[in-house]
Amino acid sequence: MSAIKTLALVAHDGKKDQLVAWAKLHKLALGELTLFGTGTTGGRIEAEVGLPITRLQSGPLGGDAQLGAMIAEGRLDGLVFFIDPLSALPHDVDVKSLLRLAILYDTALAVNERTADALLGVAHT
Ligand code: PGA
Repeated sequence: MSAIKTLALVAHDGKKDQLVAWAKLHKLALGELTLFGTGTTGGRIEAEVGLPITRLQSGPLGGDAQLGAMIAEGRLDGLVFFIDPLSALPHDVDVKSLLRLAILYDTALAVNERTADALLGVAHT
């Protein structure tokens, strides 16, 4: 897992608070990595955690698709994707595509906090 250098952070609206809290907790470890994020998630990480992050489009406007392209191009080592399991999303097709590409390219993929801890190599609290 320590081979991860580039990491994308994405959270659906119902999970953004959780991702921001997680990123605050692991700011030091995340600061070692080159970070990318979808628009709104990335904005919150930048403003509330204070980590530099390259912001792509918002997820529903193509951000998930941009991350999928990065994976296909070999430009992303890991993806922390806090999916909201309790909400229907207009861009579900993009979410599925991103997950499919992460699986296809064997990208390190965390869809909840416990696996995000494992991906980052930090203890679960
Ligand atoms: P957002 O996108 O960070 O721009 O809200 C996340 C998503 O829904 O994929």
